[in-house]
Amino acid sequence: MKTVVDLFDIRQERKRLAGMVGLVPTMGYLHQGHLSLVQRAKQECSSVIATIFVNPTQFGENEDLSAYPRDLPGDLDKFERQGVDLVWLPSVEIMYPAEYQTWVSVVRLSQRLEGEMRPDHFRGVATVVAKLFNATQPDKAYFGQKDAQQLIVIRRMVADLNFPLDVVACPTIREADGLAMSSRNAYLNQAERQATPILYHALSSAKNAFTNGERDAENLRQIVIQLINQEPLARLQYVSCADPHNLQELEGKISGSALISLAVYFGKTRLIDNVLLGEN
Ligand code: AMP
Repeated sequence: MKTVVDLFDIRQERKRLAGMVGLVPTMGYLHQGHLSLVQRAKQECSSVIATIFVNPTQFGENEDLSAYPRDLPGDLDKFERQGVDLVWLPSVEIMYPAEYQTWVSVVRLSQRLEGEMRPDHFRGVATVVAKLFNATQPDKAYFGQKDAQQLIVIRRMVADLNFPLDVVACPTIREADGLAMSSRNAYLNQAERQATPILYHALSSAKNAFTNGERDAENLRQIVIQLINQEPLARLQYVSCADPHNLQELEGKISGSALISLAVYFGKTRLIDNVLLGEN
């Protein structure tokens, strides 16, 4: 496994890779969710490039950029064990040099759900992912369903800007009790951690209701809201039941598929999760 930092080096090393190249972008502090993307990329590509970059432009002013967990030696060890070929660790100065002023904005999709709570978040995500694509020129890029809106925003950007690559969506990997794996789970104290399975329980209850014929969007939202409100350590920020193609909030009877997504605080830790209804 080769590890590079400079833009010149990633370009040179990329040129050496033959056949299908898969890209797995991450912010590090790796867990099995990240590694599942690598495993999928290994199955489908001849070479896998992984990146670790804690992207400052996707964090809001009062968010956790400085506290974001990091473990570079552990991450490199994990990537190596998974058979990653090339790791790119760009610095903030490489990604955002002085006078930086160019942004990619996926306008409407970025304003909904997470974007309502985190106004510049998806502008930062789309911009950094576009830059990662430019530098690594992948044939396929792997993203987790865990960040459902991110996936939808990136698919739109790839289509709109004609990036010559396939976006591959990978299922959410969960702990045994249902908590979606996330680097941010490290912030939870023991009591909070024990309360978190309510998220998947609530989402699964809505999914079961949908499977059993419930099609009213508000009823589905209410199933999730009521269960989460029963957990004293959980502070609900939003529950959405939206069209998974345009993220418009659904009202009345659902005719096709739906994305139920939520953001919930446990203490200071903000967790997101989602389930797709009527697909897969
Ligand atoms: P992050 O390091 O949080 O930016 O995540 C990097 C990639 O891993 C993104 O495509 C995430 O959607 C994906 N990812 C994070 N957590 C999970 C998970 N629990 N299951 C599957 N993919 C995940």
